[in-house]
Order: sequence, then structure tokens, then C-alpha cells
Amino acid sequence: MILLSAKPVVQKRRAELLAKTDAIKKRLGRAPHLSVILIGDDPASQVYVDRKANAAMKVGFTSETIRFPKDISANAVLKRVRELNSEKKVDGILIQRPLPPQLREKDVSLWVDPAKDVDCLHPENIGLLVTGNPRFMPCTPGGILLLLDHYGITIEGKTVCVIGRSAIVGKPLASLLLSRNASLIQVHRSTPDAASLCKLGDLVFVAAGSKGLLKRNWLKPGSVVVDVGIHRDGAGKITGDVDTESIADLPMALTPVPGGVGPMTIQVLLENTFTAASRQG
Ligand code: ADP
Repeated sequence: MILLSAKPVVQKRRAELLAKTDAIKKRLGRAPHLSVILIGDDPASQVYVDRKANAAMKVGFTSETIRFPKDISANAVLKRVRELNSEKKVDGILIQRPLPPQLREKDVSLWVDPAKDVDCLHPENIGLLVTGNPRFMPCTPGGILLLLDHYGITIEGKTVCVIGRSAIVGKPLASLLLSRNASLIQVHRSTPDAASLCKLGDLVFVAAGSKGLLKRNWLKPGSVVVDVGIHRDGAGKITGDVDTESIADLPMALTPVPGGVGPMTIQVLLENTFTAASRQG
């Protein structure tokens, strides 16, 4: 079993980004700036938002976290987003998911100015991605490709299986893999016998949000598995969508959880924010 750790990739790309940030600071007269909106007190969201702010600081960006109580009205959040949209020194805006029920995804995804939508969730940016002319990389799928590229894993010509079809991972990932000339199988909750379809995959991407779903009988030997799941048990132990015990003796490569897809996602968020800042200049 080979573990595809994010660590060396993030270290290398962070150092490169830090150097580019130094250069752009001179040109813009300020650092790239990321504004993060956090609604409610979900502990996992709090952890992610802190990690994003911390990573932004490490590459020389400025960032701010704007917090709202969980019962805030949609209008109050929209008003703040509009202010950020028109604020020149704000390059990237991110509204942390999941949203409380009074904020509907189909509305919120339209709020952030597409030029500042560093999470790549605005329908305009998804449209640009699907038509092969991306403005920003979707953070998790983009991070997965950077990870595979770093380890020299070819996508072109491979049979790939994506488990899950969420708007944030499964769908944009499928689109990116097709644009890299993979042959795509996509399975989801309504797929009868997903395991036998998945077994055809040279590369398997599991983003089902289901702890330990992917077991040995879903895989052929020699496959590359990317685990997008994150689950915390009562004791704080973090595991993914892969049942790692059942596959321990299979000859294959696997992204670890934690330390695989998660840090790569944050890296792409930073790179998107840098891209947005360089376009402002
Ligand atoms: P994520 O944020 O990780 O993408 P979501 O909960 O938004 O997770 O979406 C879960 C996706 O995984 C859905 O598209 C669903 O159809 C798929 N899924 C969930 N359970 C299974 C399963 N047992 N087999 C195949 N696909 C599944």
C-alpha cells in the first residue's frame, strides 16, 4: 500500500505561492485578501474556517472571518456579501457550508460575485468549468488533480470511477476527469450494484459521505483510491469513506485521511484567491 500524502505537495506549492505573493504585494500595494463567512456554530465548520484563515496567513495573505448567529436572516447575510463584492481590497469570498435551513443553496450560490467566487460554486463558474474554460478550480476536485499529478499518476486514458454526485465534489470532479481524457463511470445512491461497476476503475474517487463504504470487493488490485470522506468519531478520531482495514493487504495507492484531500482543498482555495488578486491588478 502506497500512501499519497498531501504534505510534500502542500509544502512545495505553499513555498511557491509565498514567493508569488511577495511579488504581487509590490504590484498591488497590499496582500491578497480572503473573506470567509461562517454562519452558526457547527464545530467542524469552525475547524475548517480556522484552517483556511491560518493557511492564508502562512502564504502572506490577509483574511477575515465574519461570523453570524445560526438564526441570521438571509437578507442580512446577502447585504454583507454585497458589501464584500464591491470592496476593492477583497479578492476572494467564501461562505462556509453547510448552510442553516433558512439559507437556500440555490439562492446563496448566486450571491458571491463570480470574479471573487474562490470556492467555485457560482453557476456561472460551474458552467465555465464544464465547458472547458474554468475561471477558478473547484477546490476539492482541483486539489485531487494536483495530488495525482505530483505523484505522477496518469489520468488520460484511464477508466475512473467517481462515487457520489454532489455539486461540490462528485459533479465537478467528473467534469475535470473527462477534460483530462479519462473514461468515466459515476455511481450514486440509486446505482444498483455500485461495487461491481466501481471494480472496473483504475482510479476510484469516493465522495459519498458514508464512513467505511468502500471495501475490498469494490476494488481491483493495483487501483489508485482517492478518499474524500471525513468522519469524526466520539473520541475525535478522523476516518474517511474507505474501510482501510479491509484493503490493507491490496497492492494499491491510497490518499490518507486525514492528510490527503483535505489539505489539498485548502491549497486550491489559496491559489484561487491569488488568481483573483492577480486579475484585480
Ligand atoms: P459529499 O459532500 O462528500 O460529496 P454528499 O452527502 O453531498 O457528500 O453526497 C453524497 C453522494 O454520495 C450522493 O451523490 C450519493 O448519491 C452518493 N452515495 C451515498 N451513499 C452511497 C452508496 N452507498 N453508494 C453509492 N453512492 C452513494
